Amino acid sequence: MERRFGELNPPQRLLMGPGPSNVDPRILRAMATPVIGHLDPAFLSIMDETMGWLREVYETRNHHTVPISATGSAGVEAMMVNLLEPGDDVVVGIIGYFGQRMADVASRTGANVRVIEAPLGEAIPPERFEEELRRKPAKLVALVHAETSTGAEQEIAPVAEIAHRYGALIAIDCVTSLGGMPVRVDEWGVDAAASCSQKCLGAPPGLSPVTFSPRAMEVITGRKSKCQSWYLDVNLLFAYWGDGKANNRVFHHTGPITMIYAMREALRIALEEGLEARYARHRKAHEAFAAGLEAMGLTLFTKGKRLPMLNVINIPEGIDDLAVRRRLLEQNIEISGGFGPLAGRVWRVGLMGVNANPAPVITLLGALEQALV
Ligand code: PLP
Repeated sequence: MERRFGELNPPQRLLMGPGPSNVDPRILRAMATPVIGHLDPAFLSIMDETMGWLREVYETRNHHTVPISATGSAGVEAMMVNLLEPGDDVVVGIIGYFGQRMADVASRTGANVRVIEAPLGEAIPPERFEEELRRKPAKLVALVHAETSTGAEQEIAPVAEIAHRYGALIAIDCVTSLGGMPVRVDEWGVDAAASCSQKCLGAPPGLSPVTFSPRAMEVITGRKSKCQSWYLDVNLLFAYWGDGKANNRVFHHTGPITMIYAMREALRIALEEGLEARYARHRKAHEAFAAGLEAMGLTLFTKGKRLPMLNVINIPEGIDDLAVRRRLLEQNIEISGGFGPLAGRVWRVGLMGVNANPAPVITLLGALEQALV
């Protein structure tokens, strides 16, 4: 009997959850261009361009700025496994699920993890980092800039200033913020940052843009023990991507060519738009969405500084979380629920990349209003 293999036919969705967001057609077109060898001189110049544009989006002069070949979690893990050695002290700020995860990742390096927490929906006052570092120094302070589980922003610059004053490095998870709000690596004094491809940059999931400052690289090259991860060892990674000195690229792993095309195009789109204009567009979309929610009698969960690209909405009394999300999905609109202690209590709505625009905001507000009755 002849076997039949159905063609892949995923639905067309409006992706308004916490990521992935919808991919710009320009990026999809870039991904359909020919695959070439990962050491082809033509590809090496595409890599150089991608690194250069990524530096601009990160607002940094750090040479060591690349998209790691794996999702955002790997970038966060790369910061921890490269910067920490067994017995080191690290202070992790926790304002939600992703801060907790950072502490977990850090603990697996054998470092001594000390945590500072704030209630869900709030940020940690910078003075608390100062109190902790005064009590006992640490090698690293690590925290999440944009906490996707609660919608709160943790301001980075004041914490970086404190960390440096007490001789610590600072590493940030900016998985949700990069490309949608300022992540001013050099101005803020950030030593390491990690993000993703699939949220405000609007490419598919699969890459994690990271950056390491010269100060961080000094610590990494001066390690006493080998980095526990071979794949994420920054020294090996930059032997392939280029260490900024010698121009000989050494094979490390086969670069995901098509994803790097996607990243290059996503960065090109962001820089053509202009970073400040892009941030303003995300902010405007958030303000319009928040005004629409208010008009419908819905309230936002986040008490601290709110992220523009990730809106956390309180689910009104008597409303069935899953039923509403199912009704939206029937109209091809995806939003997300809460997790951990916020499961069933909140919805999370992403306004990221191409979806930080009036049409998706209006579409979702209309559909939400209908889904609530
Ligand atoms: N950190 C934050 C703040 C996130 O929101 C996410 C993903 O949603 C991650 C880390 C993990 O990134 P990825 O899912 O790309 O591995």
